[in-house]
Amino acid sequence: MKFKVDKSICVGCGACIGVCPNRAIKIENDGKSSIDQKKCKQCGECQKVCPMNAIKEIKKA
Ligand code: SF4
Ligand code: SF4
Repeated sequence: MKFKVDKSICVGCGACIGVCPNRAIKIENDGKSSIDQKKCKQCGECQKVCPMNAIKEIKKA
C-alpha cells in the first residue's frame, strides 16, 4: 500500500503535513502537497485529516 496525493483535489492546506510523524509530506512549488515515498511509513494519518479526501491509497500488485 502506498499513499499518494491527488493533485487535482489537493488545495494545499497543509493539514496533512502537521500530522505526519515521519515528516514525509511537503508542499511543492505548485502549491500542492506530495509524499516522499522513501520517508512514508504508511500510517494513514494524513489521509484521515485531509479535508478534501485528496490522499489516496494505491494498492501495489
Ligand atoms: S501515511 Fe503516515 S507516514 Fe505516510 S505521508 Fe501519511 S502521515 Fe506521513
Ligand atoms: S490535507 Fe489534503 S488538501 Fe490539505 S495539503 Fe494535505 S493533501 Fe492537500
